[in-house]
Amino acid sequence: MNRFLPTFAWLVASAPVAFAAGSSAEALSPPLSPQSVVAPRTPSVKLVEPHLHVTRASKKAAPRVALTFDACMGKTDMRILDTLVNERVPATIFVTARWLRSNPQVLPILAQHPDLFEIENHGLNHIPAVDRPVPVYGIPAAGSPEAVATEVKGGGDAILAHGFSQSHWFRGATAKYSLTSIAEIRGLGYRIAGYSVNGDSGATLPAAVVERQYTSAKDGDVIISHINQPGRPAGEGVAKGILALKAKGVQFVRLEDIDERGDDDTTQ
Ligand SMILES: [Zn+2]
Repeated sequence: MNRFLPTFAWLVASAPVAFAAGSSAEALSPPLSPQSVVAPRTPSVKLVEPHLHVTRASKKAAPRVALTFDACMGKTDMRILDTLVNERVPATIFVTARWLRSNPQVLPILAQHPDLFEIENHGLNHIPAVDRPVPVYGIPAAGSPEAVATEVKGGGDAILAHGFSQSHWFRGATAKYSLTSIAEIRGLGYRIAGYSVNGDSGATLPAAVVERQYTSAKDGDVIISHINQPGRPAGEGVAKGILALKAKGVQFVRLEDIDERGDDDTTQ
């Protein structure tokens, strides 16, 4: 009966990431020297990147899409925020404590539109929520269960301290996790916020490509992009993409509209 029953699947990273001493670049891309041809037996951890969908609309209903934005650190892309407000488009925004601290002028806009903006947890300091000492895209992970808890709880506490509601969804920096860190985050009361369409590849894509990513969204998709990079072209594409989806008659839903746990249908 639940119209928002999500489906959940896992995308396993292409290869286990080795624990290795030295820089993150070395750990992710070992140098091809004769000495390294015979790989040492090092412990490894499998990182997963959860996918999330919302349930498709019934046949005659408008396609249903969830817009999610990460506010990792830095500033606010007003091209995106203004579009959401002016067009009355609901969205889920994942904020870090760092971003909340550095964007006080924007917080009243979010607070004044509770019908539009759901504020969720992107962590304390934008550190990958992986409980093993492994770099993710060159970023050192939290590295221990205690550090993962600090990242998750710290993000949630900051959201409350800034006057927003208790968060229920968590998306870690890089959106990658170990299986054990996923279990820990769930144990802290959070659902893991995956996605199904990568809208801006970390705000690195040209505007036209971002717009195409948006307009490629199908019924049930969850789009991820960034709202903290006002100096990059990607945000222009996000704004145009939102308008294009609205023009197509998409029904925008937020993650809080999903009543189920969101991660019970996990397969690997
Ligand atoms: Zn982020």
